[in-house]
Amino acid sequence: MITGFSYLRATSLKEAVSGLSQGNARIHAGGTDLLGCLRDQVFSTEMVVSISGLRELKGIRETPEGHLRIGSLTTITEISESRIIRERYPALAQAAAEVASPQLRNQGTLGGNLCQKPRCWYYRGEFHCLRKGGDRCYAIAGENHYHCIFGGDRCYIVHPSDTAPALVAYKATVHIAGPAGIRKVLIDHFFVPPSKDVTKETILEQGEIVTEIILPPLPRGATSSYRKVRARQSWDFALAGVALALQMTGGHVTDARIVLSGAAPIPWRSVDAEKALIGNVLNPGSIKRAAAMSVNNAEPMVHNAYKIPLFRGMIEEELENLSHSQA
Ligand SMILES: Cc1cc2nc3c(=O)[nH]c(=O)nc-3n(C[C@H](O)[C@H](O)[C@H](O)COP(=O)(O)OP(=O)(O)OC[C@H]3O[C@@H](n4cnc5c(N)ncnc54)[C@H](O)[C@@H]3O)c2cc1C
Ligand code: SF4
Repeated sequence: MITGFSYLRATSLKEAVSGLSQGNARIHAGGTDLLGCLRDQVFSTEMVVSISGLRELKGIRETPEGHLRIGSLTTITEISESRIIRERYPALAQAAAEVASPQLRNQGTLGGNLCQKPRCWYYRGEFHCLRKGGDRCYAIAGENHYHCIFGGDRCYIVHPSDTAPALVAYKATVHIAGPAGIRKVLIDHFFVPPSKDVTKETILEQGEIVTEIILPPLPRGATSSYRKVRARQSWDFALAGVALALQMTGGHVTDARIVLSGAAPIPWRSVDAEKALIGNVLNPGSIKRAAAMSVNNAEPMVHNAYKIPLFRGMIEEELENLSHSQA
C-alpha cells in the first residue's frame, strides 16, 4: 500500500528543484521504479515532484562541438532507436534495447535508469537491511545468487542499470541541477560504492536533478558494444553484462574501457583487463589474457561463483566479435 504524499507537477526546473529541496521529496520521471518502491514500502515520501513536463530535459541533440546531449527525460526506447546513437555509440543503443520490456522502455527514462534503486530482494522486501539504515546485510548468509562478485563492502548489490556501463565506457558527463546551480560530474564519479556510503547509490543530494548526459565525440578507430546475459530470454536484469569501448590505431588497441554490469554495486571498470589490451593487437592471445584478468580479483559469495566463468567467457566472446568486425 502506498502511504499518502503531496504531489507537485513542476512547470520549470527551478520549481522542481525548490519542491525537491523540502524534506524527503522524491523525483517522478517515468515512475516505473519509483511507484514500485513506494508501493512496496522500500521507502516513503511526503512529496513527489513530477519532472515529466519539463521539455528542456527531453530529447537528443548534437552540439556544435560534436558532443551528444541526451536529456534525462529521454525514454529508453528513444535511445535504442536513435539513428545517431546506433551509428556512433552502439553500446548505448544496444544496452537500451536490452532494458526490461517494450512497455517499460517506452515509459522509463535515462535519468530514472541511472538513479533506479537496487533490486536486491531483501532490500525490496520487508527486511530492514543496512542499505535501509538497519544493522545487517541479509544477503551474506542468505540467497545471494544474483549479488556482486566485485566491490561488495557490507552491502553486496549489483548495479541494476544496463545503460550505466555503456555511459561509463564512453566517458560520459552527467549534468546535475540543484539549489546551488548546475554541476558537471564525470560519470565515473556519479555512483557511490558501499565502501563510501552504504545508504546511497549516487552522489545526488536532496534537491538535485540529473538534467542531461553528455557523450564526448569519438575519434576515428573507436569501436564499441554491449552484451548482456540474463537468466530468462524475456525481460530480466543482467546476470552478467559488459560494455566495451576500444580505440584502435594502426591495428593496436590504444585505449580500452571494459565496464561490467551485474558484477558490482556500481558499474565496474575492469581496469586489469583494460591494461591487458592497451598497446596490443587484438588477437586470441591478448583476448584470452584480458578475459582472464577481468575476473582476477573476484570475491564470490556462497551462491554466485558461477559468475566468474560466465564473465570470463562472455568477455572473451565479445572481444572476439569486436576483433572480427575490425578485420
Ligand atoms: C519489471 C522491470 C524490469 C526491469 N528491467 C530492467 C533491465 O533489464 N535493465 C535495466 O537497466 N533496468 C530495468 N528496469 C528498470 C527500469 O529501466 C527503470 O525502472 C527505468 O529506467 C526508470 O526510469 P523512470 O523514468 O521510470 O524512473 P522513475 O521510476 O521515475 O525514477 C526512478 C528513480 O530515479 C529517480 N530519478 C528519476 N529521474 C531522475 C532524474 N532526472 N534525476 C535524479 N533522480 C531521478 C527517482 O526519484 C527514483 O528514485 C526494470 C524495471 C522493472 C519495473
Ligand atoms: S546486499 Fe545490500 S541491499 Fe541487499 S540485504 Fe545486503 S545490505 Fe541490504
